[in-house]
This record gives sequence, C-alpha cells and structure tokens, in this order.
Amino acid sequence: MIGLTAAYYLSARGLRVHLLDPGPFPSAATRASLGVLTHCNGGDDPFSRLYRQGHALHAHLSAQLHTETGLDVGWRPLGGLDLACTEAEIPTLRAELAYNQERNCPAEWVEGEALRHLEPTLSPQVLAGVYFPTDQRVDPEALCRALLQAAQARGARLSRGEGVEEFAQEGEGVRVSTRSAEHRADFLVLATGAWTGALGEGQGVGVPVRPVRGQHCRFAGPPLRHILRWGGAHLLPAGAELVAGATVEEVGFENATTPQATAHFSQLCGQLFDYPLRLLEQRAGLRPKPKGGRPHIGPLREQSRVLVASGHYKNGILLGPLTGFLLAEWIAQGRPPLDLERFAPQR
Ligand SMILES: Cc1cc2nc3c(=O)[nH]c(=O)nc-3n(C[C@H](O)[C@H](O)[C@H](O)COP(=O)(O)OP(=O)(O)OC[C@H]3O[C@@H](n4cnc5c(N)ncnc54)[C@H](O)[C@@H]3O)c2cc1C
Repeated sequence: MIGLTAAYYLSARGLRVHLLDPGPFPSAATRASLGVLTHCNGGDDPFSRLYRQGHALHAHLSAQLHTETGLDVGWRPLGGLDLACTEAEIPTLRAELAYNQERNCPAEWVEGEALRHLEPTLSPQVLAGVYFPTDQRVDPEALCRALLQAAQARGARLSRGEGVEEFAQEGEGVRVSTRSAEHRADFLVLATGAWTGALGEGQGVGVPVRPVRGQHCRFAGPPLRHILRWGGAHLLPAGAELVAGATVEEVGFENATTPQATAHFSQLCGQLFDYPLRLLEQRAGLRPKPKGGRPHIGPLREQSRVLVASGHYKNGILLGPLTGFLLAEWIAQGRPPLDLERFAPQR
C-alpha cells in the first residue's frame, strides 16, 4: 500500500520510480484490509495530528484519482455506529460518547426508532448506539489499482517477483540487490510492511516491526448502511454484501485463514442480525506492528538516502496516502514537510 502511495506522489513530482515487490499485487494486508477510516478523536499529540491529516486526505485523493484514472476507489462517507447489545454495555458506550464529545468529535446517542431508522436490519437485541458521522470507508484494492495506474501513466515501473535482499548507501546514491539484479538509485524507500524488521535485521539495522495477522469474512448477509462496531469487530457494507473483521493474531509470518475466525464472525453477526448469513470469502493479511505504537517514517540514521515507511499496523490504509506524500516531499525538497521527529525509524 505505502510503496504505491510513495510511487504516486514521487511520480507526480516528476521523479523516476521503480517499484520492487516479491509478493502479490495488491499485498495480502491490503486485500484483507477493511479500509475503515475511523473518526479522529481530537487529540493534540503528534500521532493524532498525523491521523487527522491522513483522514482528511482521502476525500481529496479519491477525487484526484478519479480525475486521473477514471477509477472509483470506493471512498464513501458512510458514518459509523458503535453499538450496545446488553444493559451492561450501556455505561461504556455513554463514556465513549462523552469522551469524543469533550474532544470535539461529532458523535450522537441513538436508540429505539432513531437507531432502526439509521440501520433497519439490526436485530431487536441491539439496544443503543453512538453515531459518528465522520467515519468513512475506502476500498483498499481499488485504491491500490488507481495509485498504480496513475503512477505508471507518469512512467513509474513495477517489477513483480523481485524483492530487496541487500542495500547500501554509496556516495550520493543507494545500491540495491535483488536475487536477479542490482539497481542503483538516488533514494531507496523501504515500504516493506510486516517484513521491515526482518529485512532490517539482515542488514544490521534495527527497525522493530513485526507481523500481526488479521482476518476478515465476507458474507451474503443483510445490506448495511453504516460501519458498525461491536464486540471488538467492524461490520461494513461491501456492495450488497457484508464484511466482518478483523482478528488480531500473534502467529508470526503464518498467513492462512482459519475456521475459528469464520465461526467467530458468524456468531458475532448472528447476534446483531436476525438474518441468514452465508460465507462468501475469507482473507488474511499481516499487519506491520511497530514497537512503541508509532509508525516509522523517515531516513535510517546512518543512511540518509534510505527512508523507511512502515509500522502503520491497524491504520496503514488511513495513513498510507499521507505517508507517501510526506516521503515524496522529503525526497524532493531534502527535508520533511512537517516535524516527524517522533516517527524517526531508529528511536
Ligand atoms: C484484516 C485486516 C484489516 C485491516 N483493516 C484496516 C482498516 O480498516 N483501516 C486501515 O487503515 N488499515 C487496516 N489494516 C491495516 C493495513 O492493511 C496495513 O497497515 C497496510 O496494508 C500496511 O501497508 P504497508 O504498505 O506498510 O504493508 P503491505 O501492504 O503489507 O505492503 C508491504 C509490501 O512489501 C513487500 N515486500 C516484502 N518484502 C520485501 C522486500 N524484501 N523487498 C521489496 N518488497 C518487499 C510485500 O510483498 C508487500 O507487497 C488492516 C489489516 C488487516 C490484515
């Protein structure tokens, strides 16, 4: 995802870009991603500010990509509903409403007729919700296709089946070795997701990012209007179908789907809807989880021409376009467009 956003913005700056990727297109993480762009919580720390800007960029980018490629990336301001199904869940939901309203995040309590009006297929078991009008969704696969098409139209190249094995800064450039070739470039961007930690280790560079598997299930189920959150899961409309996700599993680089995840999401949906569900598809992907919670964005300390963009964990689709933009500006201007000190890769 992030390699593509960097390619898109770098090529827009008139720079020549060569993408190397040993894996499938789009990446498994992108294919598994729900593409939810959750409301901003109004915090004033560096991560919240980055998040806010990343969230705001999507509407603009989707319009821009549509103009450039004619493709619809599925950006939709759906709005979201956090739900409570038992009396015991009500105080937590009330606290969440208060927390968000105190931080100027638009949020509203809904129950009874008003809740059914927003989301008619919810079962009578669902007692109340908090409505967040600024929740959005984008289709991650469609976004990747449009980014690639636009970047390629400006001359960017994609070599599939070719991964970085070694890299070294040499003078004013970087030497990059893959299994089959050696490349030279002015800059190297390591947007290698869950593999960044392992790749860095092989090069004697510590970027603490590890894989955390996530799965989602797509069901022929009730047509939804909003992004729903309950029981730690997201449920959202995908055309006439319903997507439920995502698991959080510490299983290393294992990326298979499991029957446990199917059972979990089937049961969860069964509690929210009186509606028969039929599993259509299940996907898994590896999220890049950073140590310390913040993504890694910027040059490796010793190798200023090698930039890292990884560790976006559960927010790689939301923060991906902004990250690509920031890197492109950094490379083109020789300095970061905003203070990214807190996101330095080796910290
Ligand atoms: C189930 C699930 C649900 C999710 N839901 C959301 C969501 O709703 N909203 C959101 O914002 N995010 C979500 N995410 C997270 C999001 O998908 C990730 O954060 C994002 O895909 C990470 O992008 P990335 O470019 O860093 O990594 P990836 O998309 O994994 O890309 C890394 C690329 O690097 C390549 N690579 C690996 N090794 C090398 C090498 N040696 N040389 C060159 N290339 C290499 C890989 O083949 C891959 O293509 C979800 C993830 C999952 C799994």
